[in-house]
Amino acid sequence: MNHESPSRAWVDVDLEAIAHNLDIARQALPDTALMPVIKAGAYGHGLEPVARRLDNDGITFFGVANAGEARRLSRAGVRTKPFILGPSFPDEREEIVLNNWCCTLSTLDEAEHFEQLAALYDKTFVCHLAVDTGMGREGFLPGELGSIIEPLRRMPHLRIDGLMSHFPAADEDVPYTQREIELFSDCVKLLSPHFRLRYRHIAASAGELGYEIPAANLARPGLLLYGIGPMASIYDGVLRPTLRLSARVSLVRELPAGHGVAYGRTYITTRPTRVATIGIGYADGWSRRLSGSGARVCIGGKLCPMLGRVTMDQIMVDVSEAPDVRPGDVAELIGEHILATEVAERAGTIVWEIFTGLGPRLPRIYH
Ligand SMILES: *Cc1c(COP(=O)(O)O)cnc(C)c1O
Repeated sequence: MNHESPSRAWVDVDLEAIAHNLDIARQALPDTALMPVIKAGAYGHGLEPVARRLDNDGITFFGVANAGEARRLSRAGVRTKPFILGPSFPDEREEIVLNNWCCTLSTLDEAEHFEQLAALYDKTFVCHLAVDTGMGREGFLPGELGSIIEPLRRMPHLRIDGLMSHFPAADEDVPYTQREIELFSDCVKLLSPHFRLRYRHIAASAGELGYEIPAANLARPGLLLYGIGPMASIYDGVLRPTLRLSARVSLVRELPAGHGVAYGRTYITTRPTRVATIGIGYADGWSRRLSGSGARVCIGGKLCPMLGRVTMDQIMVDVSEAPDVRPGDVAELIGEHILATEVAERAGTIVWEIFTGLGPRLPRIYH
């Protein structure tokens, strides 16, 4: 798409589209603070560039997966506080305390360790409690909350500044999610007399667009920022796509009828076929599960079916219907003609995995 594109395969990232999608989230939730989720390299778009573009854009935290990602943000000079979404290991906690990164507590053991570290450095460590309202991944169980209040209040170097949970099925089970919203609200009520819960958050993209959550005042949009609403909503038409995956044709050949294509010879030509070899494979995140799935690429506006299995570094497509295709031509693998959601469906997975699977070998080009 531009003459500076690399020779093999790459990802074009539209940072303005990500900023636009964040604005859509803000319009959808005018009274809610926002934690853009940029874990896993901003869903494959590139951690530092996305963080720099959104930094200071009126946001409260950046959601990251772990201390390593928080460290990358500090090294990049990002100002917005990282919020570490997953549990930390004991040997990561000193760095978390020293840098004032925010994280959640799921056990009293973690709380005691953070209390000791904060005491050692004579600091107040500000963190959130996690409550497990149904995800089964982290947090105190709702029934445990009553018994942790006193022990936590005896930890003078901890400041419990928020309560966090996470919906397991906001896009699949509305009645369950509605009961969870009630439960979360009960947890907020139980803890509020004891801790100043400045931030209360449970919704990711689906929860945010699909539900009223009166007890919450912070939302954690991820996928939405990258242009895709996880459930149908009035915002579907206004979210902008944020990346394009391209690769170049490296060879164009004529194969006779009856010739196998790729490992296992799962595809055999049925007629003389013009076959283009393209420089992308499963090592780049073009999943091997797309083999035989009907996946297509778009070259010069023509949809060309992929033939046989995806190999590590290359794929083959049928360009019999696109006779002008030449080596060096650019194929779109994800973009305006081929949606990431289509690729995910064909690969039997979700679009989150397609984005985060885009490999480090693909240069990211920012626009
Ligand atoms: C990944 C994640 C999010 C963002 O989820 P999306 O569905 O991509 O919006 C929010 N909160 C937590 C705890 C997460 O792990």
